[in-house]
Amino acid sequence: MNTFERALSHQLEQQRSTGHYRQRRSQSDAGVHTRIDGRAMLTFCSNDYLGLATHPRVVEAMCEGARRYGTGGGASHLVNGHQQIHDRLEARLAQWTGHERALLFSSGYKANLGVISALMPRSGHVIHDRLNHASLLDGTRLSGARLHRFDHASFSSAEQILARLAPASDRLLVSDGVFSMDGDCADVDALAALARRHEVPLMIDDAHGLGVLGTHGAGTLEAQNVAPAEVPILVGTLGKALGTQGAFVAGSHTLIETLIQFARPFIYTTSLSPALTAATLASLDIVQTEPERRAHLHHLIRRFRRELSTLALPGITLMPSETPIQPLLIGDEHKAMALSARLRDEGVLCTAIRPPTVPPGTSRLRVTLSAAHTETDLDQLLSALEHGCRALTP
Ligand SMILES: *Cc1c(COP(=O)(O)O)cnc(C)c1O
Repeated sequence: MNTFERALSHQLEQQRSTGHYRQRRSQSDAGVHTRIDGRAMLTFCSNDYLGLATHPRVVEAMCEGARRYGTGGGASHLVNGHQQIHDRLEARLAQWTGHERALLFSSGYKANLGVISALMPRSGHVIHDRLNHASLLDGTRLSGARLHRFDHASFSSAEQILARLAPASDRLLVSDGVFSMDGDCADVDALAALARRHEVPLMIDDAHGLGVLGTHGAGTLEAQNVAPAEVPILVGTLGKALGTQGAFVAGSHTLIETLIQFARPFIYTTSLSPALTAATLASLDIVQTEPERRAHLHHLIRRFRRELSTLALPGITLMPSETPIQPLLIGDEHKAMALSARLRDEGVLCTAIRPPTVPPGTSRLRVTLSAAHTETDLDQLLSALEHGCRALTP
């Protein structure tokens, strides 16, 4: 082994010794009923909240899109990777979210890197909720601006930070719409009021709210009755409820033009696949015209919460959430791993989330529900949880 390989092995060994070593598990497909190592598995950890990743109309649109426009964009958007199908999707996304324009990115991670690095100079300040997604923190690091974090959902804590910063400095207030590991929603109205008072632009990353919340699935803002203008920078992803891949930023014409000029993660990367773009148009149609999928999902969420609180299982706490993200707080990471393993033995896949993704002592099973789940699927989850919890409690 050469020095380079030895250094890597040493690092991996350390990762193993802390119990944080991560491994992937290969599924046969993206459905909620899938197979792992040849075994049937019912999954409760995907972000495909509406079951659109395997929807026949979306799949067909992708095949047809590939035949008409190609599988790959072939170049970046500013060279010749930009197609009319991208314009169509951008226009639809802008309309859906109530903004002047939208700009596609090839992932949510890149959208967040792109927005923050394009808008913030090194002398700037980015003010984050402590539980914001990692990509928002990484975007801040890429920009070189100073990163500030306020206590989760605490506006007094955010206010204290804003009050200390010079009003003339470049500042940006950023929050997830739905917090990805807790499932709770930001109070967007309160954040917008704070932003207005301090004359700071507000950026909301609604990766987990879009498609799921609001009458038309337009996300956290629609659910909370907040006017789009209150949030000048909205980020949405396409790989979650929309079931495809990619992301977008919605905002004013000026914001979008600024991103096209200065967002390096937009400029220096291959355009979003045109076949996927066609698939996303089909899934957006379904999101907008089939509210019954959301209704079924929200029924499952209510039923899950009701029955789990009736069961009062030892060692787990249901966190306050009205979204498809229903984390079961366990605390100890080994216990969380043990419960996850128990569920797997019963054919239910629900991965344990542990540090560093969540703070130490708050390991959990992050249950996510989907409109693709049936009542029987939910029965199976509840009974597996009941067996698992009872077996693991002394
Ligand atoms: C998933 C997620 C992202 C990243 O989106 P990708 O398209 O998967 O890269 C960004 N922000 C939040 C809040 C997310 O949950």
